[in-house]
Amino acid sequence: MPEIPEVQVIVDGIKDEVVGKEVGDVTIFDGRRVDEDIDKIVGLTLKDAYRHGKAIILDFDDIKLMFHLRLHGFVRVTDDISSPEKGWIVAFNMGDKYLVLGDTRKLAEAKLVTDEDFKTSPDAVQIDETTFKSIVSSSGAIKSTLMNQEKILGLGNRYVDEILWRSHIHPTKKGKDLTDDEIHKIFVTMKEVLDEAYSQGGDEHYTDIYGNPGKWSASVHGKKVCPVCGTPLKKIKVGGRTSYICPKCQPEP
Ligand SMILES: [Zn+2]
Repeated sequence: MPEIPEVQVIVDGIKDEVVGKEVGDVTIFDGRRVDEDIDKIVGLTLKDAYRHGKAIILDFDDIKLMFHLRLHGFVRVTDDISSPEKGWIVAFNMGDKYLVLGDTRKLAEAKLVTDEDFKTSPDAVQIDETTFKSIVSSSGAIKSTLMNQEKILGLGNRYVDEILWRSHIHPTKKGKDLTDDEIHKIFVTMKEVLDEAYSQGGDEHYTDIYGNPGKWSASVHGKKVCPVCGTPLKKIKVGGRTSYICPKCQPEP
């Protein structure tokens, strides 16, 4: 799933290419994934684009359009839509370019949203350490808390596995059992991992608006061996999500 670094890379591309342009027309390839009132944005100028957690917001002033990428959604800016690629959902003609939302698994969506659709939880990039500490010190498993968008916005399975592995914390450890030092370590590591992945164009499994993959590679998520100690990694379920851990670096609580 595209998380903060990948979504921010896409937003940067949208800002570079189509912010300030007017929507000429909308071409729908898969109507089930597109808001039925999408034509309302025709003739409007895109004022800004920004990230809201793992979603992309296209701001047309009074009207906002949200792209939910879900698991494998992607965004492209292209000159030509006469030969649509696999998974294309909708294309917006903007000046001499087209902004395209797609998803080969057909889960991504383009929805018009209002302020009520925005979550109020703090974003993992903006959150300060005091707020972070108050949120993660709950009774739940630390991994589940970090992934809960009602508590902290923007993190998903891949980056939470990375953050906890680098922090030497087992994902099932309860927040209330973490020491102050452990919470500090998780906080600092979270910022470090997100910065690092963003500076490398996001994770290698996802692409920017030109179709170029990111250069960041997870240390444990989807991998077989711990890159630090060489121990075979284990896959466990935490809150229903597959989690990669090193049994040596992340001792069971
Ligand atoms: Zn290890």
